[in-house]
Order: sequence, then C-alpha cells, then structure tokens
Amino acid sequence: MKILQGNNINEEKLSMIKQKALDEHIPIIMDDTLEVVDKILVEIKPKRILEIGTAVGYSAICFSKYLINEGRIDTIERDEQRAEEAIENIKKMKLEKSINVLKGDAVEILPTLTEKYDVIFIDAAKGKYPFFLQEALRLLDEEGVILADNILYKGYVMSDYNKHKQRTAVRNLREYIAESTGNPDLETEILEVGDGLAISKWKKIS
Ligand code: SAH
Ligand code: MG
Repeated sequence: MKILQGNNINEEKLSMIKQKALDEHIPIIMDDTLEVVDKILVEIKPKRILEIGTAVGYSAICFSKYLINEGRIDTIERDEQRAEEAIENIKKMKLEKSINVLKGDAVEILPTLTEKYDVIFIDAAKGKYPFFLQEALRLLDEEGVILADNILYKGYVMSDYNKHKQRTAVRNLREYIAESTGNPDLETEILEVGDGLAISKWKKIS
C-alpha cells in the first residue's frame, strides 16, 4: 500500500530547533507565512519540493509534514556551517529519507537540476531572486507553485526607498515582482503576510 500521509513530526524537538534559530537571529520563516504555506501544501499534496535557502532546516522540516507518497525535499544552502547544522537537525527529526541538503551556491546548483518540482520555495539571497525565478520556472511542474519569501522586504519594496545599502536587494525584488506578475503564462499573487510572500502558478488555459 502506498503511504499517502506526510511525515509525523516530533513537535517538541521542532520547537527547540526553532527557538535556537530565533536566539541566533537566523531568519527562519515567520509563523504567519508558514500558516499560508501550510494551507497551500495541504492543497497541493507535494511529492517533490525544492527549497532555495535551507539555513538550519527549520522550514524544510515544517514542509516535510505534507509530503506524500514518500516524497522528497531538495534544499540548497551555501553556508557550510548552517548546512551542517541542518543535516544534524534533519537527523534528529529522523527525516533523512525525506530531506536532502545540497551544499553549495544555488546559482551554481540550480542549473544542474533537471527533475520537476511541485513546490519551489525561494528564500535566499534577495539580489538573486530574478535568477531564481528563471530557474524555478524551468523546474516547475505543470500543476506546481513557486513561493518567494521576503518579497516585500520590511516594506522597502513598495516604498520609494532606494538610497540604502540594501538597494540592490530592493531592485531585484522589484524585478522579481515585475517579471512574475508581467509573465502572461503566470498567475501571481503578492501577500502582505510576514515579510511578504509571492505565490505564482501557471495560468490555466481552458
Ligand atoms: N528557509 C529557512 C531560512 C533561510 S535564510 C527557514 O525558513 O527556516 C536564507 C539562507 O539562504 C541563509 O542561510 C543563507 O546562507 C542562504 N543563501 C543565501 N544565498 C544563497 C545562495 N545563493 N545559495 C545557497 N544558499 C543561499
Ligand atoms: Mg525568509
């Protein structure tokens, strides 16, 4: 019989991982953003998820609850120490079979990927978001969804803010929004939840 249910998670261990990340100021997914993503994952029933930006594995562990049919998450992290901590956390949660950490820069790793994903979660260097979108579109399944976290970046993206040292990030986030909302093949929503979440799907042709 096929396993249709997702992974069972030890919530106590998960909240310890979360607290440690918060204490160390690691920018893990915000609770209200996670709530929205949870609902999307329940609906999509993903078999394959791609995450760009693992940090210590918190979001990947949360998402693994919703994998079906022995699905898998591939998650990319370029910071060696964080990647190692993520691998440790995944082991602690007994999720080694479900979550695969790819160590390295997503800019180099993404072009080597060829299999399609049902869900692609973009949560890494903001200056690279337009490139991540381009690669995500290449790797997205027909029924899939691309989620981009921090798309409103503390409100900078929608204000006339452009002087700060973060202006490259802001410019690239604006470019992501312009490209994902302007693409005639995509349906894109920008939610003001958490630090901003962009949700893109292929437009249905009926
Ligand atoms: N998704 C995580 C948080 C990720 S924080 C969670 O919610 O729990 C963003 C992470 O992206 C950081 O750990 C950073 O090291 C990583 N990152 C930034 N740019 C990257 C790149 N180009 N390739 C791979 N990882 C990157
Ligand atoms: Mg984020």
